[in-house]
Amino acid sequence: MDNLVSWWEHCHTQYSPRTALVGAGQRATYGELNTFIQSAAQTLKNIGVRPGIKVALVFPNEPNFGVAFFAVLVAGGIPCPINPNLTTVELDPLLLVLEPQLVLASQWSEERQSALQTKLPLLKFENWNLLSNDMQIKPAIAPHQKSALEPELDEVACIFCTSGTTGLPKAVLLTHQNLLSNTHALWANKQWRDQEVFGNALPTFHIYGLTVLTLLPLSMGGTVVYMPKFSPKSCLHTIEQEQITRFGGVPSMFAVLNQYRQRNDFNVSCCQSWISGGAPLPGAVVDEFSIHYASSIYEGYGMLETSPGISWNLDDASYHKAAVGRPLKGIDVQIRDSQGQSLPQGETGHIWVGGPGVMKGYYRNPKATAETIQAGWLETGDIGRFDADGYLYLMGREKEVMIVGGNNVYPREIETVLLSHPSVADAGVASQVNGARGEEIFAFVVAIAGSQLDESALNQHCRNALSSFKIPRRIYEVAQIPRNDSGKILRGRLLEQAHQPPT
Ligand code: AMP
Repeated sequence: MDNLVSWWEHCHTQYSPRTALVGAGQRATYGELNTFIQSAAQTLKNIGVRPGIKVALVFPNEPNFGVAFFAVLVAGGIPCPINPNLTTVELDPLLLVLEPQLVLASQWSEERQSALQTKLPLLKFENWNLLSNDMQIKPAIAPHQKSALEPELDEVACIFCTSGTTGLPKAVLLTHQNLLSNTHALWANKQWRDQEVFGNALPTFHIYGLTVLTLLPLSMGGTVVYMPKFSPKSCLHTIEQEQITRFGGVPSMFAVLNQYRQRNDFNVSCCQSWISGGAPLPGAVVDEFSIHYASSIYEGYGMLETSPGISWNLDDASYHKAAVGRPLKGIDVQIRDSQGQSLPQGETGHIWVGGPGVMKGYYRNPKATAETIQAGWLETGDIGRFDADGYLYLMGREKEVMIVGGNNVYPREIETVLLSHPSVADAGVASQVNGARGEEIFAFVVAIAGSQLDESALNQHCRNALSSFKIPRRIYEVAQIPRNDSGKILRGRLLEQAHQPPT
């Protein structure tokens, strides 16, 4: 397949009568979906969308997003999905980075719309259709040389923004080849049934929701069921009602499903695999899930800059608990030391990824691109190791390392120990530099409903499993661990939750 436009052409022709997208009370076959896409693409062309034009997509998790994404591509433009929950203040830096010429949105409050409309032309999507008006967009950049219908494999297909948990977001350029090769790598990894139904609980602005939970099912004639506003009840209800065969979510969703007491009101035996990615999946969550739902959770590892799939733990006999699987077909993974030298198997080091999924670069940020990609290999910023069977284990993120008394400590290791305590439902760890005492570790825990947490007992629990320099100075009980939309702990916000400011 040459590009996502010809790929879509192939999908809708081959699978025309099958159901493609479902959600928000809407349902369309591949054939119907293509009609909506072509009609919206025509409207976009009429108002001036053409190759090189960036179009921000501001959508909740609903089928309109799918129409908008492909319509922009068919018109020759570049879709740039962004978070619909951002305040107008948070949106400004993203718009500065992306510089879109047009915004497509749905379900946005009047207030948000009018705030944005003063900056950019905005069109609304409703019930699969793009509501057109007489506007003309003025391209800020020179038109592209090629015909709208023939993007090359190495041309930019879309731009996503990093989640920015450790700084300002960066805009990631993903090519047609990046997305198609990763879709193929995911597909080639396992045997699929004839008519798979994927439940997609990820936000539209996260790459996991696009490649793994939209392009992969569409490439095999499957159905994508968008599941907006995650709640355990609506999730289980939708899985049963739509007979979902694969559900994709983030670890915090599985923890919530474990705690949901009415789970037995639903028959979700149709779901063949429960897929987790985006953040560490605690072993305790996997164990509990297998008790409550008689199924394992199959963890994948990826990142936006690798389109995103890197490795996947499959639902077959090869399943290695606590691993994030083996690298996907065609994806190269190396463990290197801090000088970039390859390390022997079994050693822990920096994870580098090579292969056709590696992004083209950061938009208008050659410095960050050069720091991240070297000779085609991308430094993920994650720390991990391979076992003798070729399974990858993640230890933590380099940027999150805490240096305590000269020792490297990853928050994840302490969180894993805290989560193994029977009264702990959730845990997060952060550090703070405290004058002469240097960097100190603070832990935050959420109690399982009906349980009492005792700081000294938790402290002893940590001492049983961890060296003394890894023991948190204080362990605070909190109501919630703050996370972003892909389930990552917002460590900066954790310390604000301390009952007493650490001294
Ligand atoms: P994003 O680009 O927002 O998808 O974030 C990518 C980062 O999420 C990776 O570099 C990892 O640090 C983290 N991540 C993704 N999948 C996993 C996983 N299965 N376990 C632990 N961390 C993960």
